[in-house]
Amino acid sequence: MLNFDLAEEHQILRNSMRDFAESEIKPVAEELDEREEFSLDLVKKMAEMGLFGMVVSEDYGGSNVGYLSYIIAVEEIARVDGSAAATVAAGNSLGIGPIYYYGNDEQKKEWLPRLCRGEILASFGLTEANAGSDAGATQTTAVLEDGQWLINGSKIFITNSASPISAVIVVQSQTGTLKDGRRELSCILVPNDTPGVTAMEMHGKLMWRSSNTGELYFEDVRVPEENLLGKRGEGFKQMLATLDRGRLAIAAMGLGGAQGAFELAMNYAKERKQFGQTIASFQVNAFKLADMATEIEAARNVLYKACWFCDQGRPFTMEAAMAKLYCSEVMRRVVNEAVQIHGGYGLMREYQVERFFRDQKLLEIGEGTSEIQRLVISRKLGCYE
Ligand SMILES: Cc1cc2nc3c(=O)[nH]c(=O)nc-3n(C[C@H](O)[C@H](O)[C@H](O)COP(=O)(O)OP(=O)(O)OC[C@H]3O[C@@H](n4cnc5c(N)ncnc54)[C@H](O)[C@@H]3O)c2cc1C
Repeated sequence: MLNFDLAEEHQILRNSMRDFAESEIKPVAEELDEREEFSLDLVKKMAEMGLFGMVVSEDYGGSNVGYLSYIIAVEEIARVDGSAAATVAAGNSLGIGPIYYYGNDEQKKEWLPRLCRGEILASFGLTEANAGSDAGATQTTAVLEDGQWLINGSKIFITNSASPISAVIVVQSQTGTLKDGRRELSCILVPNDTPGVTAMEMHGKLMWRSSNTGELYFEDVRVPEENLLGKRGEGFKQMLATLDRGRLAIAAMGLGGAQGAFELAMNYAKERKQFGQTIASFQVNAFKLADMATEIEAARNVLYKACWFCDQGRPFTMEAAMAKLYCSEVMRRVVNEAVQIHGGYGLMREYQVERFFRDQKLLEIGEGTSEIQRLVISRKLGCYE
């Protein structure tokens, strides 16, 4: 039976996340963005709210509340701040995810409880300078020598990888060459404090300015053979499945960001008067607000359906790509009109909407650009021979 009502637990979660985001994140978001500062204090508060480990079982310190709950939480944080939402989304989907889904019991026990308590952060080391959209073109190598992986290479744009609490990186590495000449790719857990690892925080970002982004270098890094995640040669498969789940969270950031920008525009349009009347009462603006609300409603339905597929254990690769593509593009259209409705004030920091305008852009680039989402969807549709 079709039922569009959220369960009571989801409604309660949304309310508590909204209160938290309004009271703890919104008041500091602007200043952290201005200073380009990653706030450990905020991470601690988000951890106390149970925002890390939401899809991890209780055995490993998680709360196991399911993907829809997790996505609603990310949506509510993104409604006030993209950077804080990025910390949570990357922390769960990209950092915790691969260890939880592919780690052995020992690896899970070693890392997950502290990750779920938000005491440390894990990061997802896929992208390299010469391997972006072509994420299988990894040049970082890992050679097995005397029971240790010897790792050399670098990664770029890695979220949560260069903060004082960044503790472990899942590094996709080339561990050999297959018979057909293709790279054998495997994921290896590399603690940040291993000799030879350098993590440099990247500055000067347009968006997500108070999230932590790192550039990583591995110079003759040695970790035990047991740090291999899952099976040798399955690294790329693990990374792609991790991105499927991660895309749900990026979509939630698009949905929440669109909702936040819409509310700013709506409030402004009802207050601002020109020609003796509120600008909301000019039909051109009222129709813009109507279009925004309609697109947000459609985006929410696309994303929640993809989460439902995921929670049901059904295939959801195409649905996740559609949700990520659609929600990020809905946010682009919504923030663009939200700034327009604010007129000149929309371009000023004080009015917040400009931060939403900047934060949106990453959503069309990170975890697979919009072009790559269209590639995933068109492949699933069977467009190519
Ligand atoms: C703030 C931030 C955080 C990030 N966090 C992480 C992280 O935690 N972990 C991680 O591994 N990565 C992370 N990334 C990297 C991100 O996933 C990549 O930037 C993204 O996948 C695109 O790769 P690229 O930047 O090399 O662009 P490129 O791949 O060089 O793409 C350039 C352009 O070419 C287009 N293009 C490329 N190939 C095709 C094709 N086959 N068909 C059509 N068009 C194509 C792209 O769509 C794009 O428009 C992050 C990036 C940023 C900016």
